[in-house]
Amino acid sequence: MRIDLHTHSTASDGTDTPAELVRHAAAAGLDVVAITDHDTTGGWAEAEAARPPGLTLVRGMEMSCTGMGEDGHPVPVHLLAYLFDPADPGFAEERERLRAERVARVRAMADKMVADGLPIDPDAVLAGAGPAAGRPHLARALVAAGVVDSVGAAFVDLLAPHGPYYAEKVDTPLTTAVRLIAAAGGVSVLAHVRARKRGRLLALDDIRALAELGLGGLEIDHPDHSVADRAVLTDLSAELGLLRTGSSDYHGTNKIIEIGACGTDPEQYEALIGKASGVPVIAP
Ligand SMILES: [Zn+2]
Ligand SMILES: [Zn+2]
Repeated sequence: MRIDLHTHSTASDGTDTPAELVRHAAAAGLDVVAITDHDTTGGWAEAEAARPPGLTLVRGMEMSCTGMGEDGHPVPVHLLAYLFDPADPGFAEERERLRAERVARVRAMADKMVADGLPIDPDAVLAGAGPAAGRPHLARALVAAGVVDSVGAAFVDLLAPHGPYYAEKVDTPLTTAVRLIAAAGGVSVLAHVRARKRGRLLALDDIRALAELGLGGLEIDHPDHSVADRAVLTDLSAELGLLRTGSSDYHGTNKIIEIGACGTDPEQYEALIGKASGVPVIAP
């Protein structure tokens, strides 16, 4: 049984539409795929409608959160949320706030570029980006305008936190997110939490505190995790009784990782869906 619990579609910053994503998952030989776009459930309905027979679809989301870093300063953290009830009022309100935050942030960055004479059309960027607007959409606009050669090049300087056009967005505190997801019947899993190339790391004691609040699991087998960090997380999952997941974090052609590149153990998957009460998996 091949299970990939973390993929992105065009509902956020992937390049496959939700329909293409589920077809691609089935063609790649997966039995289970989760759609986990950034801060939106916008791809769920299309993925469900296009699901090929034989493929199980897990509806999820990857939430932008803030935790405490090992160095005592706030650090951005991604939290996967699975099988929550999208209509739960508390969680729905927070997702709406995050969406508004994303749009305002991309608008602010695009406006700074225009003021600097860069050939960017903020309205067109936002219209093309949809509800999960983010820096990748600005990056693609900069490539299309010939300002940079690639999406990666745009992130090195122009779109980086130290860069000239950066604007902050206010993400959800991890503790709040874990509580909201649990209250909506979902299961929360910390995504790529030891991915050093993405920046500073969340403190391990912060993970211990989250476990007390209802954190469900840790994403351990992720393309950005070293062997040593996978071992650290495996030990921590045993210490705290957390689920262990693995996934590709597939983004289509935006990244070179293929769908199904890392996977989740069937027993861990069964335990995860057994803990959820928001919405069911969509099974053959
Ligand atoms: Zn992520
Ligand atoms: Zn992701």
